[in-house]
Amino acid sequence: MTSVPHNADDPFADARRRMVEVQLPRHEVADPRVLAAMAAVPREEFVPASLRDNAYIDSSLPIGCEQTISQPCVTALMCELAQLTGAERVLEIGAGSGYGAAVLSLLAGEVYAVERIAALAEQARRRLQRLGYVNAAIVLGDGARGLPDAAPFDAIVVTAGADALPKPLVEQLAPGGRLIIPVGPHPRELTMYRFTAEPDQLRVEEFGTFAFVPLVRDDGPGL
Ligand code: SAH
Repeated sequence: MTSVPHNADDPFADARRRMVEVQLPRHEVADPRVLAAMAAVPREEFVPASLRDNAYIDSSLPIGCEQTISQPCVTALMCELAQLTGAERVLEIGAGSGYGAAVLSLLAGEVYAVERIAALAEQARRRLQRLGYVNAAIVLGDGARGLPDAAPFDAIVVTAGADALPKPLVEQLAPGGRLIIPVGPHPRELTMYRFTAEPDQLRVEEFGTFAFVPLVRDDGPGL
């Protein structure tokens, strides 16, 4: 079990420790590096001031512009499925609050997080800068197209629900790269997939059912 250091000056330390030691293992998050990253990122800094006291309940929360910060266990699960060891180049689609990008930045070498809503992108960029997550860049744009200029990626994590698999994301995976993406007919009925780019096939694994805000698509028909 990861033990979170006690800091008397941090009013959220106990809630964060409970999240890491109780909630996340209950959802079968077990990678010690993921647990340590979740223990290190102050989630209260990524939610609206009025919701700070709720920052560590295991729930998604509104962040404005009709979007949400994902439930902590979902962020942690997606990070675990990405199988990061420290040096990877990672793309996140749906930067939202910037929280997922902050956690990923502690697990990988370089993180690019694409967000289509300018106000959220700007806020996330300022937050990451202020908190010192220097290896995470927020990019304003349509993430369903991936980020061709920075490709290929060792992992791509999509934190919005897709109706079909966006072809550009598959094309931007490095050999052996993992694409973690919830896909399904309805935003409340999405299957979490991990696609792995193997030499002669795209390996597919499924990891349960989830609800996400929709991935906005104008990149053409999916795969
Ligand atoms: N990872 C975020 C969760 C954000 S919710 C966090 O930790 O806070 C999903 C986000 O995906 C929303 O902010 C939404 O605006 C964004 N989004 C939806 N479709 C998108 C697209 N095509 N390109 C980029 N961002 C998109």
